[in-house]
Amino acid sequence: RAKTAHKGSFTFFSSALGNEMSERLSLEHRLRIALTEREFQCALQQKVDLRTQDIVGFEALVRWVDRHGTIHSPATFLQLATELDLLDGITDIVLDNLSQRLPLLDAQFGTAATYSINISASQATKTLFMQKLIRRIADTGCAERFLLEVTEESFLAAGAFQTQVLPLIREAGVGVSIDDFGIGYSSLAILADITADELKVDRSLITSIHQRPRSQSILGAIESLGASLGMSVIAEGVETLDEKNYLLNSSRIKTGQGYLFHRPQLISEIIEQQTCIVQKFKS
Ligand code: C2E
Ligand code: MG
Ligand code: MG
Ligand code: MG
Repeated sequence: RAKTAHKGSFTFFSSALGNEMSERLSLEHRLRIALTEREFQCALQQKVDLRTQDIVGFEALVRWVDRHGTIHSPATFLQLATELDLLDGITDIVLDNLSQRLPLLDAQFGTAATYSINISASQATKTLFMQKLIRRIADTGCAERFLLEVTEESFLAAGAFQTQVLPLIREAGVGVSIDDFGIGYSSLAILADITADELKVDRSLITSIHQRPRSQSILGAIESLGASLGMSVIAEGVETLDEKNYLLNSSRIKTGQGYLFHRPQLISEIIEQQTCIVQKFKS
């Protein structure tokens, strides 16, 4: 198309759009290599008991550690990886990483800790991919300590998730968490049809909750829903003491996650730190 356009627009095309395109192509190229070189790693963020700050579990969050050691967060590559159909391979690496380190993590944090894996809607509705993933979780021997975090988009696409994937998850004993709950337009409707174990309240509802009466009402309603439908409720994105204190004193939510408590860290770092502490102790 650029060729048939007159010269002026061709010049524009080659400078501005051209740059954007070559940037995308180069990221695309680097992402593909990153997958074959297994440059992705699993980071973990702690879930804590709000009353004691004891660690009750972890959420696995992917990081791309490139060959220069630069750590890229999902915002920079997740969408492109999805478009290029690389996300399933990335999720496999995250789970590999985690299951390899599980014995060490268990030694450190106990065998009651749960582990959550994020699944995009594009993945959740792929029966074959999910079947394999669930089998690999079952292979760890502790399926019941795993949760899959899905967003409500997973429930909207043609029902494949509810009818085919969800029964497999249940059968394996793996839990289901509804991530980013409260911001979608069908949050309530999906709860009529599916059974989940956990509702994870979106950060946007938690931010400055102590100062926002309307958000407080919504949160109250989510708590009641969770309680009457037998789901636990967890708050994500707790950043301040005021937010934590509100949850602790004015809500029934007992579990939270956020920068106030812990930032996500690569598994290798979490384990290394503990080894250092142990060595210090011994010497
Ligand atoms: P999410 O599952 O809702 O994860 C929460 C995000 O909020 C994470 O960003 C986490 O680092 C960040 N976060 C945690 N506590 C706080 C806080 O107190 N304040 C703020 N501002 N942010 C906080 P991250 O790691 O960049 O991940 C972004 C999203 O990418 C995730 O949102 C999830 O949807 C997706 N994602 C991450 N890892 C994977 C993965 O392995 N597979 C798939 N399919 N998606 C993933
Ligand atoms: Mg999540
Ligand atoms: Mg979330
Ligand atoms: Mg969120």
